[in-house]
Amino acid sequence: MTETITTDVVVVGGGLGGLSAARHLQVQGYDVVVLEHHSKPGGYAHYFRADGYRFEVALHALDGLGSNGWARPMFDTLGILESVEFNELEPFYTVSFPDFSVTVPTGIDEYVERIAEVLPDERDGVRNLFDAIKQVGHDVARYTRDRASGEHFDQMEMVGRYPAMAMAFSSSWSQFVDRYVRSTEGKALVATLWGYLGLPPSRLSAGQFALTLLSYHTAGAWYPTGGSGAMSFAIKDKIEEHGGDVRLRTTVTAIEVMGPQHVTVSTDKDLVVEARAVVSNASPSATAALLPPGAMEPEWLDDVQSDVAALSTMTVHLGVARDLAADGWDHHEFFDMVGYDFESEYESILKGEFTDVGMIVSNYSVTDPACAPDGKTALVLTVLAPWDHNDVWGTGGNLKEYQENPGYIATKEAAGQILIDRACRLIPTLRDAIEVVRIGTPLTNVRYIMQPGGSIYGREQTVQNMMERRKPTTPIPNVFLAGAWIGGGGMTAAVGSGKSAAKAVHRYLGSTTG
Ligand SMILES: Cc1cc2nc3c(=O)[nH]c(=O)nc-3n(C[C@H](O)[C@H](O)[C@H](O)COP(=O)(O)OP(=O)(O)OC[C@H]3O[C@@H](n4cnc5c(N)ncnc54)[C@H](O)[C@@H]3O)c2cc1C
Repeated sequence: MTETITTDVVVVGGGLGGLSAARHLQVQGYDVVVLEHHSKPGGYAHYFRADGYRFEVALHALDGLGSNGWARPMFDTLGILESVEFNELEPFYTVSFPDFSVTVPTGIDEYVERIAEVLPDERDGVRNLFDAIKQVGHDVARYTRDRASGEHFDQMEMVGRYPAMAMAFSSSWSQFVDRYVRSTEGKALVATLWGYLGLPPSRLSAGQFALTLLSYHTAGAWYPTGGSGAMSFAIKDKIEEHGGDVRLRTTVTAIEVMGPQHVTVSTDKDLVVEARAVVSNASPSATAALLPPGAMEPEWLDDVQSDVAALSTMTVHLGVARDLAADGWDHHEFFDMVGYDFESEYESILKGEFTDVGMIVSNYSVTDPACAPDGKTALVLTVLAPWDHNDVWGTGGNLKEYQENPGYIATKEAAGQILIDRACRLIPTLRDAIEVVRIGTPLTNVRYIMQPGGSIYGREQTVQNMMERRKPTTPIPNVFLAGAWIGGGGMTAAVGSGKSAAKAVHRYLGSTTG
């Protein structure tokens, strides 16, 4: 028999965007139901277990969580600051280039000095760069305050009132950085984190990257005990504690808008949810596909269908029967850079040439020791990766039972082996101690998270896209969106998008009657 639940707002997808929307809505007094396809909450913010190890699926470093951080008030509203322990990463990371390595602290002054130790001629340039970045942050903070107090300006007025913000959001990172830093090495060093946004400096929004750097270097880089999954479970618990319902292993198959303040959401289980509004954590085009044909305005549909998905990832999760930190490999985050030209690396990523791309080596046991048995290490190797490598990872595009497809297995293992060999060159004691290997590809991301192309950041974070961000509203008044496709990539951004969606739903529900 079909179960029907009635609620105020139904949330499709329990990634961080969806969970945050649900919890923010509860705080505003609404009943919520979250429907999540996967067996765990959190979307990318989760873990999996294998042979005694608990492996992080995604998170390397959260930004914005320091006492002065932009994301902290939201995490407070989610109610998880007490139940989850957040550990500050200090130093933040180590980056190794062919000619030098730098261990990067979070403090800006200390970071500038560390750069000056290897590139003395760049001291002033990098300092000026960070002054310019702070100016962008200052303008964005003023803009946010002005917006919150109801002020609106046209484009020309915006340029006059917030010049640093306007300049950064209309430039690529390479245009922005060229004003301050001269050497190829210096430019590469300050762009180390480009992979955190998924586009090379010539295509990446300077505004977005500047805010990311500012957030990490003023409010710290963080990793929770228990991994990102601990946050997701904590938010789910809060939602349930306050009477909400989070249904896992439940895939939404259709959304029907019956009228103002009335939507019906169907699932692959014998479960239907009737609600006043729906928030979707699926991509905008996937959300449109859940609606009946013709339900969405064609112009909006064309627009969202033209979005290019950001890159995906390949991850190699290694269970290592040694304490690698005791061997001297005590980096939570280590960037193994093959050169200084990130434009050509990006081309190599698109071609699936994984020998020629920057790789992150993360020893999660340093920050979260319980993720591996005593005396052992959970090590994860990560590279950005395209969806269509080797004809969709050796499947020819046939995703039916792809995990058993010999073409897929061979392609995945060959690519994974490249990363393992690279890591073994970096860490001499690694090879003989590997006892667990699990490789994730863009296809894995689609299977578990249902993101188009396995995208990890929603749509590409280009200059244009970040200047013209998508809104949480859609042409259908009671259909809303949350997640990386709306708020930008990254976990704190996804949480922020959930907050914005909740605000938009509240505006709608408060102004109309059913
Ligand atoms: C390897 C890797 C490393 C990363 N590192 C970092 C990092 O260091 N720092 C950082 O901030 N970010 C990082 N990210 C990016 C970050 O994880 C994502 O940008 C962010 O978590 C996206 O959140 P989201 O809300 O958009 O939802 P997603 O996590 O994409 O979740 C969407 C959810 O919706 C569900 N769903 C979709 N359709 C349906 C449906 N029809 N029915 C039911 N459920 C549905 C999915 O199952 C999924 O749970 C990383 C990602 C990866 C993969």
